[in-house]
Amino acid sequence: MRLDDEKRSSNVEDRRGQRRPIGRKGGIGLGTIALALVAMYFGVDPAIVLNMGQKMSQQAPAPTQTTNVSANDPKRIFVDKVLNNTERTWNEIFAKAGSRYRAPRLVLFTGATRAGQCGVGQAAMGPFYCPADSKVYIDLSFYDEMKNRFNAPGDFAQAYVIAHEVGHHIQNLMGTSDQVQQARRSARNEAEANQYSVRLELQADCYAGVWAHHADGANRILEAGDVEEAMRAAAAIGDDALQKQAQGYAVPDSFTHGTSEQRKRWFNQGLTVGDVNKCDTFSAARV
Ligand SMILES: [Zn+2]
Repeated sequence: MRLDDEKRSSNVEDRRGQRRPIGRKGGIGLGTIALALVAMYFGVDPAIVLNMGQKMSQQAPAPTQTTNVSANDPKRIFVDKVLNNTERTWNEIFAKAGSRYRAPRLVLFTGATRAGQCGVGQAAMGPFYCPADSKVYIDLSFYDEMKNRFNAPGDFAQAYVIAHEVGHHIQNLMGTSDQVQQARRSARNEAEANQYSVRLELQADCYAGVWAHHADGANRILEAGDVEEAMRAAAAIGDDALQKQAQGYAVPDSFTHGTSEQRKRWFNQGLTVGDVNKCDTFSAARV
C-alpha cells in the first residue's frame, strides 16, 4: 500500500498509554474472556458495546502495558494517513452526490477507554464505531492479533479495518444505523434482529471496498497483493471463522457480522463497482 505522499489527518485522538477509565482494580474473569473472544471481531454492534460496557465497568480490566505513544511512531503515522485518505475520498464521493461529508474522529487507546454513550470500549471487542459520538475506536494490538492469531497480516488489511469502521460512520451519516436499530427493536426474535446487524456489517464492508476503489483510482495506493490481504482479513474475521476459533463450532443464528464468504463478496462488490448505491445489502435477494 502506497501512502508516502499522503498527509496526516488531524482527527486522530491519541489516548494510548492513558490509565483505564475505571477506578476499581480487578482481573478479567474467564467468562469475560470467552465473551470477548466471541466478540473479537471488529465493528461490534453498538448495543453489544453498551451491554459489554456495563458488564465491564463492574469487572474492570487489568491495566495494560504502556506502549510507544509518540505522535510520530510508525503505527500512529499509518493510522493518520489512512484516515486522511478516507476523508479525502469520502469528501469527493459526497461532494459528487451534492452533499457534505463530516469526517469521524478516530480514538487510539490501549486496554479500555470511555466511548461516549456507547459505554466502555475494550481492546478485546476489537475496533468499533460509536454512532452516538461519531468516533472510531481502535486498540492497535488488534493488528497484532490479526497478524499472529488470524493470519491476516499486511498494511492494506489494517487499512481495511479502518475503512470498515469509517463505513459505519457513512451509515450513521446516511441514517442507516438508526433505521437498523429501530428494525432490531421491532424484530420478532434474536435471529431476525441479527439479520439486520449482518446486513449492516456487510454494507460497511462494501463501503470499505468503495473507498478502496476510489482511493486507488485517484492515487494508485494499491500494490500487488493488497486486495488479497484485505480479503484474507475479511475472511479471517468473519463470524463463522471467529466462532470456530473461540468455541470450535459456528452458530449461524448468532452471527452478527456475516460469514467469511459474505464479507469477502461484499468488500469485493464495493471494490469492483465503486458505487455506494450498489451496497444495498438490505434489499439484496442474496445477502
Ligand atoms: Zn462492523
